[in-house]
This record gives sequence, C-alpha cells and structure tokens, in this order.
Amino acid sequence: MKTIIEPFRIKSVEPLRRTTPEDRERLLDRAGYNLFLLDAEDILIDLLTDSGTSAMSTQQWAAMMRGDESYAGSPSFYRLKSAVQDLTGFRHVIPTHQGRAAERILFTVRCRPGHVVPNNTHFDTTRANLEFTGAEAVDLLPAEARDTQARLPFKGDMDVPALERLIAERGPAAIPMVIVTVTNNSGGGQPVSMANLEAVREVTARHSIPLYLDACRFAENAWFIKQREPGYAGWTPRQIAQKMFSLADGCTFSAKKDAFANIGGFLCTNDDVLAQQEKDLLILTEGFPTYGGLAGRDLEAIAVGLDEVLHADYLEYRIASTGYLGRHIADAGVPIVEPPGGHAIYIDAGRMLPHIPHAQFPAQSLGVELYRHAGIRTVEIGSVMFGEHAQNELLRLAIPRRVYTQSHIDYVVEAILEVNARKDGLKGYEITEQPAFLRHFSCRFRPV
Ligand SMILES: *Cc1c(COP(=O)(O)O)cnc(C)c1O
Repeated sequence: MKTIIEPFRIKSVEPLRRTTPEDRERLLDRAGYNLFLLDAEDILIDLLTDSGTSAMSTQQWAAMMRGDESYAGSPSFYRLKSAVQDLTGFRHVIPTHQGRAAERILFTVRCRPGHVVPNNTHFDTTRANLEFTGAEAVDLLPAEARDTQARLPFKGDMDVPALERLIAERGPAAIPMVIVTVTNNSGGGQPVSMANLEAVREVTARHSIPLYLDACRFAENAWFIKQREPGYAGWTPRQIAQKMFSLADGCTFSAKKDAFANIGGFLCTNDDVLAQQEKDLLILTEGFPTYGGLAGRDLEAIAVGLDEVLHADYLEYRIASTGYLGRHIADAGVPIVEPPGGHAIYIDAGRMLPHIPHAQFPAQSLGVELYRHAGIRTVEIGSVMFGEHAQNELLRLAIPRRVYTQSHIDYVVEAILEVNARKDGLKGYEITEQPAFLRHFSCRFRPV
C-alpha cells in the first residue's frame, strides 16, 4: 500500500472554536497585529509552534500516573536518566524546565564577553541567551543553503571551512563551544548530515573545543539521514541518533519537541567539573538536580516520549505529512524553503511578496492575512524575529506532533492558495512598541 496513514487513532478529542471574519479583524486590532498576543481559543488551526503542543500517547499518560514527586532522588528521574543515557551516552543528565533553561545554565557557566559561539544557525532563544552573557553568536551556514530554492538533501549542514577560518581568526581560546542545531530550526527545519557532524567533530577535536548538539529534533534529523545519506538506510533511527550524539561532548534539549512532552528539557555533558557548576546554578534557579524545575510526572512523560519518537512508522508519517503540506502549496506556486523540512514548512514571504520591503515585514503581513482569512496562526521568522541578522523573510507553519489530521492540513493548503491568489493586495507593517530582548513575542504593529 502507498497511503501513509496517521499511525494512531484518537481516544480523546478537543473541539475547535470558530470565529467570524469580523471577530478576527477586531481581535487582530486588539493584539497589535502580533499573533503571539492572540488568545488560543480564537485560533482554528494553530501552527504557531511544534513546541509543547504534541498529543501525548496512552503510554505517556499511563507513565505520568507513576510519576514520583519526591524532592530528591525520585525514581522518575532515574527512569529519565537511563532513557537519556541509553540514547545519548552522556555521563551527566541535568533536567531543566525547558530548552532555554538548559541554554542559560550552559552559557552562564561557559561564556563571557569576548567569546564567540558558532552554530549552523542559532535559534532565537539560543542567540538571545548567548548575547545576554556578552558572547557573540555567529551563524555558519554555507552560501548555497541560504538560497531558499536550492533542493539540497542536507541544507542544515554547518559551513566547515568557515568554522576553520573563524577559529584561525579568533583563536580556540575565544570559542567556548561549537553548537550544531539538529534539525536546523531557524534555517528551515533542514537536516544536518552525519558526514557534516563528523567533519565538524574533526575540527573541534583538533582544537580541543567542545561540540554541543542543540538536539531538539534529533529524531527527525535521524530519519532524514536514514532516507538521504548513503550508508544509513539499514540503520534504525535509534542507531543513527546514538551515533549523532556520540560525536558530541554534550547537548541541550527541549523535550517540548522530539519527546512529545508538554514541558521539559535537559542539559548533558561528559565533563565532571562543568556538570558540578551547572548543577550548582540549577539549584539556584530551577531546582534540585533530580527534578530541575519539573514534576516527577513530566520526567516520566519525557522518558517514554524519547522512545516513541524513534519508532519508524511515526517518523515516516511525520516527515511525509510535513512534505505533503509543503508540496501542495509549492507545486501550486507558493515559494517555500525547499525541500520541505521536518517539523515545519517555511513560506518564503520575501519572494512571495516582493512589493513589501523587508523593513515592513512581508512574513508578518502574510501571517496576519492567513489568520484574518482562515483563523490559522503561524509565526514570522525574519526581520521581526532577528532584526538585521535575518537572512530571509520566512513565515513558519510548524506542525504539532500527532495533533492535526490530513483534512486539517487540506484546509490550510486551501487557505494559503486563496491568499496567494490575491497576494498583490497585501500591505506592510511597522512596529509601534517593542521590548529590549526577543521583541517578536510582545511587540505591537500597525499596518503601513
Ligand atoms: C525550541 C528550541 C529551543 C528552546 O527550547 P524551549 O523549550 O522552547 O525553551 C532551542 N533550540 C531550538 C533549535 C529549538 O527549536
């Protein structure tokens, strides 16, 4: 059989609430045209993020009942620790309330003003947490990967010659770590090849610089390697993931992505001294090292999710369903980041709306219009989010795991094609108020 089906059935349903076009116009005005400031109840299909929005399985809910809420030494922590160690091989597993807490602890311990941290592409919280320590965040994506239309199998790869040049210029002492983000979220959800990870590893090892994975979507990345990289077709996703982690010295992880959990994260390292400093800081702000700001039941949900996410039938469905959305809009003329990524489709709004200058946020304009037209929420990944660091003006449609069915996605396709048919009438926006950090979460706009 050719048809790829959702590899689950539905036991508990959540009704969707419809709004009228007049409601949505009023709600947009009230939210300052920032989709983060809308209430979730006013959204029909929410593609804002795949973070923390997964549907948990019966096994995860059952495990939550087993959650042990002891302050110290909970058996739930030991179950999580052994699940993470089996997958990653890292000696120290430090739970945190989400990925950015792991980043903040790692960077606070390791980074100083004058330091520079390369990444294939820094995610927004990663860049912000690094810059908050005074360190400089540098994105090293090869030039060909920046062309949104290039259909390369591993567009998330780090530019290794550029990494060598950066190390030669700044010296290894100024580089406290190199980070590779799998998959490359801000770069289009594109995978990183094993060959690239090995090449980065060779460079970092030669200069004794620790290599970290920002591992949020390790399973989706492993599936792409299995599908696309010669030599891995016969490997299980778990074997591929284990090899990816074996090349690194540590990782940060948001369990809100490839662990199907609604909250949680962790930080791993093999360095005993570093782990002790990290745990000291963890106690100060997150909690005791055997719960790290999470309930015992959350630790259980993560442990189970880390296993489920590597099931081949799940990953096949996951990557195929993202590709389904991407192909249906791209083949009808909507420019997307090619090829479709793992967790999201990114519409290249700069290319779709050439009449709106970047300083007037074309992807923001498209996102507002999709909500106005069909109640769909998406997120801008461009000049609103990254200011002058933005490489493209993208609108991300992130797909929550195991949540929406194919008919929901068909509705999204129809809405996008209808907006595309009258795209020349879309107008730009300007910012009227903004905070000092991560402005996209709370700034307000007005139409130009
Ligand atoms: C989500 C994400 C983070 C941050 O994790 P949170 O759990 O949202 O704090 C870091 N890096 C990448 C690549 C992410 O996608």
